[in-house]
Amino acid sequence: MDKKAVDQVVSVLANSRNTIVVTGAGISTEAGIPDFRGADGIYRKLGENKVMNIININAFNRDPEEFYDFYRKHFAFPPAEPGKAHLMLADMEKKGRVKGIVTQNIDSLHEKAGSRKVVAIHGTADRYICRNRGCQGVYDQDYVDRYEEVVPHCEKCGSVLKPDVVLFGENIKDYVEARDMILGAQVLMVIGSSLTVYPLAGFVKEFTTFYQDLIIINKGRTQLDHAALVKIDGGHTGDMLEEINRQMDLRGC
Ligand code: NAD
Ligand code: ZN
Repeated sequence: MDKKAVDQVVSVLANSRNTIVVTGAGISTEAGIPDFRGADGIYRKLGENKVMNIININAFNRDPEEFYDFYRKHFAFPPAEPGKAHLMLADMEKKGRVKGIVTQNIDSLHEKAGSRKVVAIHGTADRYICRNRGCQGVYDQDYVDRYEEVVPHCEKCGSVLKPDVVLFGENIKDYVEARDMILGAQVLMVIGSSLTVYPLAGFVKEFTTFYQDLIIINKGRTQLDHAALVKIDGGHTGDMLEEINRQMDLRGC
């Protein structure tokens, strides 16, 4: 673990009244959910274009069967529990050290870890919503797993169900809230994101044009490494957050 960088992060966080955390797929790899852009990720295996062409709202509307065929095969997350990194962030929020999380993840692991203020801009993978707007049917993963056909339908009205995740071509959820949280932060700590997916990467970039206090904890390079006050690359992220939290306990801040 980079001791000097960890100490620096502790000092920055200790002086912050409003720390917001931004997380991406990299925070969940230690909990057993692979990322997309990492070495074994789906983008490397299948190519980003192929994924974008199917995990796309137009493709979904045109041919839900083809969509679900692919989605069930490649997007089913293994069952996972929150990792140490998720648990540490939840504890840091309880102690007032973190005010909220904006996440690109769709695995609900922050909520399961006990974090309260979580804005999941790409939605939630284990929720399915009826496409008939007037119906408002909501279903869980179990319902879809047990459904006998490839394309799940609503029990109440018979319409097709869509995973409650933001597909390519759709707007992110809670755009204004996410942007306000990020631009209102005193310190922004990005964990496990390559900062290539927009608009989130744009919000972080905008933050750096006004403020300097950006911390990045990510394996591999990100698009905003040059703008970070501290960048930590490598090591076990859960252990690192545990150490940061422990040092803040010791300092009583
Ligand atoms: P991304 O662009 O945010 O990249 C993930 C980054 O995390 C990579 O740079 C990788 O090197 C880094 N990383 C991997 N393990 C790490 C660790 N232990 N500690 C620190 N950093 C680590 O995300 P992506 O994988 O390109 O996914 C794109 C989008 O797909 C996401 O924004 C999300 O919507 C969705 N997705 C979600 C999940 C999830 O919910 N767990 C998983 C995969 C993809
Ligand atoms: Zn319905």
